[in-house]
Amino acid sequence: MQYISDPSLVSTEYAQYGLAQEIDAYKNRRVTSDLYTRSLIGPLFYMIASGLTIGLADYFQGRVWLMLIPGLAFLLLWWQRYHHVPPTPGADHEEYVRWNRQQWYLIHLGALIWSGIATSTACIELHTSNAVIVTMITTIAFSTAASHSFAMHPQQARLCIIEFVLPPTFIYLFYAVDLRAIGIAICIYFVYLMMNLHGNAKEYRKQIETEVMLIQSRAELAQLSLTDALTGLPNRRSYEATWNHIWRIAARKNDVLGLLIIDLDFFKKVNDQYGHLAGDACLKHFAQILRQQIRRDSDVVARIGGEEFVAILPGVTNELAYSMAENLRHVLAEMPCEIATQKIYLTASIGAGIADWTKDKSPTDTFQRVDKACYQAKEQGRNVVKCA
Ligand code: GH3
Ligand code: MG
Ligand code: MG
Repeated sequence: MQYISDPSLVSTEYAQYGLAQEIDAYKNRRVTSDLYTRSLIGPLFYMIASGLTIGLADYFQGRVWLMLIPGLAFLLLWWQRYHHVPPTPGADHEEYVRWNRQQWYLIHLGALIWSGIATSTACIELHTSNAVIVTMITTIAFSTAASHSFAMHPQQARLCIIEFVLPPTFIYLFYAVDLRAIGIAICIYFVYLMMNLHGNAKEYRKQIETEVMLIQSRAELAQLSLTDALTGLPNRRSYEATWNHIWRIAARKNDVLGLLIIDLDFFKKVNDQYGHLAGDACLKHFAQILRQQIRRDSDVVARIGGEEFVAILPGVTNELAYSMAENLRHVLAEMPCEIATQKIYLTASIGAGIADWTKDKSPTDTFQRVDKACYQAKEQGRNVVKCA
């Protein structure tokens, strides 16, 4: 049995399947949107830093136009990242994987271009010039930003930091005596960054887990508020939402739509004679029979009152609704609820009918006609099916 409308109204397995999908989709959306926004501004900083470096480098003195080359490259990169928007909600997992892979190509490309500028500046100048100081400070800033911003993908972030730090530091350590001490300091900072990234990744994971837990508890609460605690069937609230939804769809398409309203007979007497707990067991027993007898995927059963139940039967004609109700009545009358050594026999009065699209103006109209039939079944002596 399942509901067509809101996944939260659907049977437990279906709801859990829907929930797992919702959680996957949420994680994908969260990670990609973080990666997109956090990597967007990087190329603009590279542009400023490369302009400063070339402007200050002794080697390039007087050749300011050279700034244009990395400047344009970073502008192009920024434009690429800006237009590489995350997949639209509802995209499948593969699409997200592909998007992330492409975004990371763009991020690595930026890091490698910057690293090339920093390394070549160190190679050309080989001493603590203004240009070298600018590249050192900005490289430290960029790698720190990577360790904070890209905690959602720690492996890629690690590679990105290596791309930033290692090539220029290699030159500082082994080719520029003047810069060796600074190179060692950067190595120490590099180790710190790697540890920091590990912690940030853990924090990021925890944050997502907390958000997922919130989604799960919200879904559980929604499910609870729609389920009858005693029988596990959908409750009245759930029934009303589903009945209205199914009724309107069927009305639009002029489809056949059957409805049964079932009221257990003399149930007060069951409680009086056997006790309230036995009464509860009888309600569970009937709920089980109802589930077994009304079992097509499109059918919906619910407990709408103390000892009142309904079955919504899309595509079921009047004759079929009547015979399903008769069958249900027979099975119930023949299957007693067994408690210890006692057997409690139950019967039900059932109203059966279909929506009449010429007369019924609302879901309530159909319900009231079938409810009247149920009332007539009571009047005819109970343990009877009456057609609306
Ligand atoms: P009728 O044949 O006319 O339907 O008689 P009835 O006794 O079934 O109907 P009535 O409406 O007079 O009483 C319904 C009874 O159902 C009253 C109440 O004690 C019992 N009932 C309602 N909800 C529960 C429940 O959750 N557990 C138990 N054990 N009994 C319940
Ligand atoms: Mg009743
Ligand atoms: Mg009753």
